Amino acid sequence: MYRCLKCKSLITEFIEGKVMCPHCGYRILIKLRPEVVKRVQAR
Ligand SMILES: [Zn+2]
Repeated sequence: MYRCLKCKSLITEFIEGKVMCPHCGYRILIKLRPEVVKRVQAR
């Protein structure tokens, strides 16, 4: 998941080969980690 630096919108999908904001066309994106940390106990 990425966030656009310009319009701050979240981007989850890209057009293939094009890394840019689909909303404003800005090319600088921040890579985000998923904020929800899942803890799964194995037993
Ligand atoms: Zn944008």
